[in-house]
Amino acid sequence: MVSKKANNTPIPFGPLGAHFSIAKGLHNAVYRAEKYNCTALQLFTKSAHTWKERTLTHTEIDEFERAKATTGITLIASHTSYLINLASCNQNKHKRSLNALKQEMIRSSLLGIQYVVLHPGFCTGGELNEGLDRITFSINKVFSEIPKHKTRLLLETTAGQGSAIGHDFKQLADIVAKVKAKGQIGICLDTCHIFAAGYDIRTKAMYEKTMDQFNSVIGMDYLSLIHLNDSKRPLGSKVDRHEHIGRGEIGMKAFRLLINDKRIRHIPKIIETPKDTDGKDWDEINLARLRGCLRRNGEPI
Ligand SMILES: [Zn+2]
Repeated sequence: MVSKKANNTPIPFGPLGAHFSIAKGLHNAVYRAEKYNCTALQLFTKSAHTWKERTLTHTEIDEFERAKATTGITLIASHTSYLINLASCNQNKHKRSLNALKQEMIRSSLLGIQYVVLHPGFCTGGELNEGLDRITFSINKVFSEIPKHKTRLLLETTAGQGSAIGHDFKQLADIVAKVKAKGQIGICLDTCHIFAAGYDIRTKAMYEKTMDQFNSVIGMDYLSLIHLNDSKRPLGSKVDRHEHIGRGEIGMKAFRLLINDKRIRHIPKIIETPKDTDGKDWDEINLARLRGCLRRNGEPI
């Protein structure tokens, strides 16, 4: 066997960013990302906890375009409102969810945002299969109403808390299979959520097993975005509690494996770690930890 000599060739780091606040304007999230040397970011295009919609003004769109052009940051994801539930059996809630998703897709398209991240839904008291069918029906309906949108909808893996759908790769594969516009659907993999759902990534062998499962069940081609979060809760806990990178139950090794995985280097990675109010700049600390994970050729992970 030929031994591979370590060298100092710098390996380009894939797109990395964080979820940034839109306080003082949508465009400010992009400038915040630049301050942290980010090459990607996630934001909300409206308040995530209310149904109230937001209509963009021409000035907001222009300012956002200028921010992207000035900073060079173009890999942007928006996260949908937490209230949206496409699996809801309640007619009124379902109708509101459809409209909220449609408005989010329209806003994101106007802002030139590539990805819209969505929690697939939850089916309180209902059958899982019916919930899955309602989700695909809803996505197909929204897509048919805005056929020219340029934004890709990403279903996020969930921890499986309560009756949340999306904690099993098979559920996500089922939705993807039934979405007609295949080029407009993708997956956002959240490390905290898959870990809480029972997919281990803490060792090389477990990491490879989980990635293989993702590939064989859903398909790597659908993986469009990764949320990098550690987990406060243990493997399989089904509880969604994000922790700072390397300070939770997942640990640094998993993040080193992810950052150095050439197969997913091009995929934007976003942290959604807590913004603690202890005076420390945790975004800076967590991003630095991830940047420190990158190994040069031959260096052990
Ligand atoms: Zn997430």
